[in-house]
Amino acid sequence: MKTNLLNYDLQGLTNHFAQMGEKPFRARQVMRWMHLGGAADFDDMTDLAKSLRAKLKDRAEVGVPDLMTAQKSRDGTRKWLLDVGTGNGVETVFIPEAERGTLCISSQVGCALECTFCSTGRQGFNRNLSAAEIIGQLWWANKALGVTPKNERVISNVVMMGMGEPLANYDNVVTALSIMLDDHGYGLSRRRVTVSTSGMVPQMDRLKEDMPVALAVSLHASNDAVRNEIVPLNKKYPLTELMAACRRYLAKAPRDFVTFEYVMLDGVNDRPEHARELLTLVRDVPCKFNLIPFNPFPHSGYQRSSNENIRIFRDILQQAGLVVTVRKTRGDDIDAACGQLAGQVRDKTRRQAKWQQLHLEKG
Ligand code: SAH
Ligand code: SF4
Repeated sequence: MKTNLLNYDLQGLTNHFAQMGEKPFRARQVMRWMHLGGAADFDDMTDLAKSLRAKLKDRAEVGVPDLMTAQKSRDGTRKWLLDVGTGNGVETVFIPEAERGTLCISSQVGCALECTFCSTGRQGFNRNLSAAEIIGQLWWANKALGVTPKNERVISNVVMMGMGEPLANYDNVVTALSIMLDDHGYGLSRRRVTVSTSGMVPQMDRLKEDMPVALAVSLHASNDAVRNEIVPLNKKYPLTELMAACRRYLAKAPRDFVTFEYVMLDGVNDRPEHARELLTLVRDVPCKFNLIPFNPFPHSGYQRSSNENIRIFRDILQQAGLVVTVRKTRGDDIDAACGQLAGQVRDKTRRQAKWQQLHLEKG
């Protein structure tokens, strides 16, 4: 089996090269070719000695996932479906805006956490993506989008808000983050790379030490009763623990606030009393709110809150001094909106086992 070099961050690649008897600067060169140069063929890495190229061809590969489909929305949003083997596919979405270009990437095939309003969660869990499959999404998007006329990268921001719970695939996500931030990789700013979590408290504590990037937390409820229903992970890490973890994270974070995501579900979590309850809940956590109008999918059983109710909810938070944005739905003609990423999740045999594990750990 050839070693897939996309699974390594710079440190890992340097160690791997050392084992092959190669100097650290060679690892840096190859890193730059793969990520900055978008090269997948060692013969394109023209400043490497022929002998090294031959050695690499013999033992290693730049294994990017195959592209299954590429789509473009009327509003410029782009979506790619990547083949991750055995009939499974994961989705990556690019959202162009005036001041930035944001890539939304996936971390797992499906998700085991089963939030009731999420299409990915409803499909169950298949497996974690490798670091190569995570960074492969950025690799493809970068290749498709290129650079701006000013020679800046079109992708300025990355959010881990696609399919899957990034912190449930901790090691591979941290390796991929390391490549994103590395100047020999994609050179992105820590402040412009966001991990979104449904609230895995122990991993939040680890991330702040290992790879502090911007943090988004999927809050979605103002009390444990509602959150237990719609984000089952809350039974394991309830709101007081989650708020404490957010405060601890902020002590090390590159930004001085947490972004709370809050999906607006008609009649479930969108009442004025919920907004008031939130104010008390987040009293001690510097934060911004991102209200996400629910994006429907077949048989979800939920309705999007009315614009009027979203406005009332937003006003209550804003009048208390919080910064609140209401997320615009983008790319809905290509099913690229938040929570609609379905990809292709086959063979969910591990779903049951995963759940048992989660519940056992709880007990
Ligand atoms: N697992 C991570 C990241 C992926 S989900 C997390 O849960 O944070 C990215 C965001 O989309 C989360 O805030 C998630 O709750 C939200 N989301 C999921 N389904 C949605 C839907 N149908 N409509 C709107 N937002 C949704
Ligand atoms: Fe998983 Fe996030 Fe969807 Fe919940 S919202 S099921 S954690 S992907």
